[in-house]
Amino acid sequence: MAEAERHEEIRAGVRALCAQFPPAYFRDIDQRRAYPEAFVAALTKAGWLAALIPQDYGGAGLGVREASVVMEEINRSGGNAGACHGQMYNMSTLARHGSAEQKARYLPRIASGELRLQSMGVTEPTAGTDTTAITTFAARKGDRYVVNGQKVWISRVQHSDLMILLARTTPLAEVRKKSDGMSLFLVDLREAVGKGLDVRPIANMVNHETNELFFQNLEIPVENRIGEEGRGFRYLLDGLNAERAIIAAECIGDGYWFIDKVTRYASERVVFGRPIGKNQGVQFPIAEAYMEIEAANLMRFKACDLFDAGKPCGAEANMAKHLAAKASWEAANVCLQFHGGFGFASEYDVERKFRETRLYQVAPISTNQILAYIAEHVLGLQRSF
Ligand SMILES: Cc1cc2nc3c(=O)[nH]c(=O)nc-3n(C[C@H](O)[C@H](O)[C@H](O)COP(=O)(O)OP(=O)(O)OC[C@H]3O[C@@H](n4cnc5c(N)ncnc54)[C@H](O)[C@@H]3O)c2cc1C
Repeated sequence: MAEAERHEEIRAGVRALCAQFPPAYFRDIDQRRAYPEAFVAALTKAGWLAALIPQDYGGAGLGVREASVVMEEINRSGGNAGACHGQMYNMSTLARHGSAEQKARYLPRIASGELRLQSMGVTEPTAGTDTTAITTFAARKGDRYVVNGQKVWISRVQHSDLMILLARTTPLAEVRKKSDGMSLFLVDLREAVGKGLDVRPIANMVNHETNELFFQNLEIPVENRIGEEGRGFRYLLDGLNAERAIIAAECIGDGYWFIDKVTRYASERVVFGRPIGKNQGVQFPIAEAYMEIEAANLMRFKACDLFDAGKPCGAEANMAKHLAAKASWEAANVCLQFHGGFGFASEYDVERKFRETRLYQVAPISTNQILAYIAEHVLGLQRSF
């Protein structure tokens, strides 16, 4: 099937599902700081969250390009894909680097919705952006690893069955390269919570279920290690490129939502005897924000296509996420501004989407880290940290 046709089919399918969960549904969930359980269940049942799972394991066997279209449409319809996007990009880590046994054990059950793999535990309170400085340690003891340490800002743990965990298996002082000596594990949260893993929710600005994690002698069977010991950071980077491209698409979806919303409002709101959208002072910032979304969207598809072709895409994935997050934030500001006071009223959904899209300049990677990556790895400037 031609790519455009396939996209249209995906867009139409996701839109039809999202129509059953209008902005009012997400507004209510946001106000109650609840989890959009019914929405995530419907999305899973319809097979959309299994987009990246190979067909042999019960998934749709699609690429990041198509997965990103699913996530874009959720945000474009006024929803918040942040409640379930982990399931998309975590899948690419397991599908690409998991053993045949791990894939056979987990992927079909994730595809059917029996299990959720929504969480990824990387960030630590003391290491912050400097991931190689993490200290959570997994010590090998026979056929198990024993994990001790702490993580922060780990999302969707309370609504997931499985979590991908990054831990040191060799202390930083003993490795040749800082990125060596870290390993990835699949943690079965159903067994771990309360038995070596303590979860403490963090109240935050967005309705984003996120937590502090405390590991105290948590035991993980050796067969739950993903790939080789010590190479976890490399596997993680690969999955992070998928994450960046997918988050870029969510920002693009937000961006179009803001532009549609403000364009409609500006055409209808009459002040000084004419629609506010007749004034160039209102039109131009909206037009500018729209152009930036369109431009960022090109980089988003470039990153997706490189990833799907198995080609290096670190620069493009980072640039796509950065440009899309900036563009959606610009569109959010314009949308809020031209709704005047009504932009602050919850019933318009603008203030909620404004908060939701703001997150993407900080998480999953902050803007400065992307700028440093481009300066160093693309432009060849000196390493700054
Ligand atoms: C709602 C939410 C959900 C999250 N979910 C997850 C999750 O599921 N899993 C997970 O592992 N993490 C998650 N995170 C963590 C997120 O990835 C980090 O917050 C983010 O990477 C920044 O790290 P930090 O907060 O420690 O900031 P810090 O490292 O403390 O940095 C603070 C600021 O200083 C800047 N800065 C730091 N060093 C430099 C430098 N050398 N040069 C220039 N600027 C610098 C940073 O760019 C940043 O703006 C989440 C965060 C939030 C807020």
